[in-house]
Amino acid sequence: MNAPAFDLHAIRAQFPILDQEVNGRPLVYLDNAASTQKPEAVIEAVAGYYRHDHSNVHRGAHALADRATSAFEAARGKVATFLSGAGGEVRTDEIVWTRGTTEAINLVANSWGRANLAEGDEIVLTELEHHANIVPWQMVAEATGAVIRVIPVTDTGEIDLEAARELIGARTRLVAFAHVSNSLGTVLPVQDLIALARGAGARVLVDGAQAVNHFRVDVKALDCDFYVFSGHKLFGPTGIGVLYGRGELLEAMPPWQGGGEMIDRVSFEGTTYNRSPFRFEAGTPHIAGAIGLGAAIDWLAGVDVEAAARHEQALLERLDGALAGMNDVRRIGTAPGKAAVCSFLLDGAHPSDVGMLLDQQGVAVRTGHHCTMPLMTRYGVPGTVRASFSLYNTLDEVDRFVEALDKVRSFL
Ligand code: PMP
Repeated sequence: MNAPAFDLHAIRAQFPILDQEVNGRPLVYLDNAASTQKPEAVIEAVAGYYRHDHSNVHRGAHALADRATSAFEAARGKVATFLSGAGGEVRTDEIVWTRGTTEAINLVANSWGRANLAEGDEIVLTELEHHANIVPWQMVAEATGAVIRVIPVTDTGEIDLEAARELIGARTRLVAFAHVSNSLGTVLPVQDLIALARGAGARVLVDGAQAVNHFRVDVKALDCDFYVFSGHKLFGPTGIGVLYGRGELLEAMPPWQGGGEMIDRVSFEGTTYNRSPFRFEAGTPHIAGAIGLGAAIDWLAGVDVEAAARHEQALLERLDGALAGMNDVRRIGTAPGKAAVCSFLLDGAHPSDVGMLLDQQGVAVRTGHHCTMPLMTRYGVPGTVRASFSLYNTLDEVDRFVEALDKVRSFL
């Protein structure tokens, strides 16, 4: 493979969807925190699989089944390598396929949570969590009698570590938090939080949905127990995601869904289960999705990710600079070192009106609560306008976004 490089225009040219007009204007796609677009390599991998290799996996006695199984399991290996680093190798049996971040957290909540939580045990979350990292814990808390405690965020959108020190203690069984906030872009102090959890003998789940597309993640160096992310935010297909779980933990966890694939032997007297990760993968998996995600990881291996991160920071600085000069703009989330996500409100305007008027000018942003209602309540806002960047966005697009926003400001 060639040495990783970062040639913005060559990269952008690989994303066919970006080359189109919306409402008579060239599309400016700034909704990357909701989902990233797909390079040709991923589109081709999925199409090629369906054209040439499709069959069900793990049980066929023919060539196509072999090819599908090899490609599906090779993709699992790519994910394991992707999450490995100087901290050590992730094993393929530590990678469970899920439908996405949401299903991965539900898996841990239902399997690990129901087996390990009891009355009075504490689950510690943060105030900036996505609903996917709140609701499954509320459901398991209701079923087990466990209690949820919440680390507050500061006015700038940072984690209040002093409060975290007080909250994480002898009753804490699990600390679960985002690596990067989807609403604010804050990069959480994962190492500090993991150290606090370890000190209390608690398990740690990190929601990496917004992290893996911005920087390299080494789950062994982090020393977390679970790390989850979605393929569609990493230039891969929708409907596929990943749960990394520390091997010995997964091995001790009970299954959460029953069906084919996850069993060892079935009889009406009783059933024994397959080993992990297959124990957690009941039913026919999203084979094409896994292969597409593997292709996305291969594609990303050809990109200089550090240079891409610097480029995203330049985009963010340009936008932040422009917004700072607008006295009718209130920015929400100004933590230092944040990822390329920018949330704000226009005085006197509802975020959804701003979003609609931007869309009319070909600019795609997200508006609303971003599935973080408690965080919106914390700031006393109904929602925000959120522009989020990916490596294929250009400085020219930032300028076009600012121009479009100026029009919205004069209109409203
Ligand atoms: N956590 C975070 C931080 C997210 O940004 C998202 C997606 N917005 C999710 C969880 C849920 O991801 P998915 O919908 O792909 O399961």
